[in-house]
Amino acid sequence: MTDKKPDEHEIDNHSRRSIYNMMQKLQEQVRSNIPAMITQRSLSSFTLAEEEPSSQAHEQVLVVVYPQDPFVGEPEVRRMSVNDIRSGLVNGRVKIEDSRGVVAVPDENGNYMYLPGTPEFDQVNAFYYTTFTLRMYERYAKRSIPWAFAASRIRIDPHVGNNANAFYDEQNQLLGFHTFTYEDRELSTAQSADIVSHEAAHAILDGIRDLYNESFGLGTRAFHESFSDITTVLVALHDDSLIRRLLKWTNGNLRMTTFVSEVAERLVQLVKEGDGYLSEHTLYLRNAFNQFKAKPFDELPFTPLDPLELCRQEHSYSRLFSGAFYDILVGIYERIKDEGVAEYIALYKARDLIGQLLMMAVEAGPVGEMTFDDIARTFLSMDDVLYQGQNNEIIKHVFAERGILSESDADAHIDYVHNLPVLRLPSSINSWLASAQFLENEVLPALGINAIDELTPLSTHRNADGNVFMTYFSSRNIRLQGEQYGKFAGTRVDILGGLTLMFDADDRLRNVCYRPVTDEDIRQIRILTAEMIQLGTVVDHLFVSSLDALRQQMPQGLFIMDSLPGKLHEEAYKLVKYPVIFDVIPEKTADFEDYLNKWSEKSRS
Ligand SMILES: [Zn+2]
Repeated sequence: MTDKKPDEHEIDNHSRRSIYNMMQKLQEQVRSNIPAMITQRSLSSFTLAEEEPSSQAHEQVLVVVYPQDPFVGEPEVRRMSVNDIRSGLVNGRVKIEDSRGVVAVPDENGNYMYLPGTPEFDQVNAFYYTTFTLRMYERYAKRSIPWAFAASRIRIDPHVGNNANAFYDEQNQLLGFHTFTYEDRELSTAQSADIVSHEAAHAILDGIRDLYNESFGLGTRAFHESFSDITTVLVALHDDSLIRRLLKWTNGNLRMTTFVSEVAERLVQLVKEGDGYLSEHTLYLRNAFNQFKAKPFDELPFTPLDPLELCRQEHSYSRLFSGAFYDILVGIYERIKDEGVAEYIALYKARDLIGQLLMMAVEAGPVGEMTFDDIARTFLSMDDVLYQGQNNEIIKHVFAERGILSESDADAHIDYVHNLPVLRLPSSINSWLASAQFLENEVLPALGINAIDELTPLSTHRNADGNVFMTYFSSRNIRLQGEQYGKFAGTRVDILGGLTLMFDADDRLRNVCYRPVTDEDIRQIRILTAEMIQLGTVVDHLFVSSLDALRQQMPQGLFIMDSLPGKLHEEAYKLVKYPVIFDVIPEKTADFEDYLNKWSEKSRS
């Protein structure tokens, strides 16, 4: 503007003024004769012809839910597309089946405006957040995500029983939410957006990587829990009021230390003043509040003694990865902010960037056994594919700091994917057999992989961006021998590994994740299964309902007869993963206060 000549400025200003004056005059003239104006309007609109409302007007349905807002326990109105909510609370992927026999019905305007305290509210809340979580990941994955079972819809029972508990039951294709009594009030875990999106995330991850839920390994089980907790953070960051409050409280500084010292104190205060709901809404958020560093497997105690220590229980160990994820989110947020983007927008951008990164890392990551460093490597290479490595330094730094992946290992991985052999996906691959031939004739020789266990095609798909993900699996069968296995001694266990190839829209190989079963996997699984047996969480039959299973101490392992014909008697017994993921909700308000206080103290010292 400074190079403009002064007379041009004057002309500009002059012409703008005259247009403004002209408009003002015209408007005044119109207003000066109101009766004429009304007559004109009625002349042009006087008709009895039927008029369609705009599509916007009837494509949205209102629902009342508890948004994932850990700081406010008030229900709010949200919108759903009519395509995602049909009569009886059902859509193409989700349906409510309340064991209490109640069915929420829409009001005369088609809306579901139930308030907390009614079973219908719990149904709507569980339905809304399950659908929301699935749609969020489909947006990040750029494809329709299947369930792990052969049915298009997952069932949700918001009143499945009376324990402070929720679960994902693959066998029964069910998300179950228990009710419990708190200070003379009956609450359902389905009222918590955190709990619902956590359970929905188990089902979503199982749909993408169903072998994780077959594994006894600590890495896979802990990643399942971490993925679910991370999901609650991503869903929460879709809540405008939450984002504004976080930024206000922290002055835009979302670093862990600020969180622990500043936000924790406010939370403790609010939890004290709260009515019990608050503890529900803060359940999983707590898992991002940590500064855990990785520890060698053998140094981890089996059962948790102090909540501030990691142990071999999957919920406990998962917090290490959730904490790292949170640090990366903050790192990306700060990078975007430093580019001059407003804090509020930067957080939205960081959320979607890392959400997509997470989803692509899962799609391109290990198929079976894994440890956190495997998924850390895939984060790095997906950042490379999606964002030209913009966040590589942040990701590298966080994973190194947390002790998950050293900087030198990260560099070696980046070097490896940058120097992959030129390998193109032949357009002729449209069958299982073609995929097996491609692997044997081209992939393995080009990559120099000498697979110890035979790799078998598992799945393939191309997303809306044109990226192709092709997976193969391998299996190793071990026998559990020794008195530590008690009556299950001699049982066999399958351990699964695999290979994932990712090709870009030009069909060029961009990432390889070869993760066979290792001797260390086997060693750890021997230890973990013995611990499960000693703990009494291995059962010898599958319960018909998840409720019966729950009464049996939430089984983790299932002892079954191998149905394969021709097996010798002593080889016929197998230990498999119990097909339900249980989440216990033991936290009381006081526990949460205590937890935050301890973290605050620890972060100050
Ligand atoms: Zn869980």
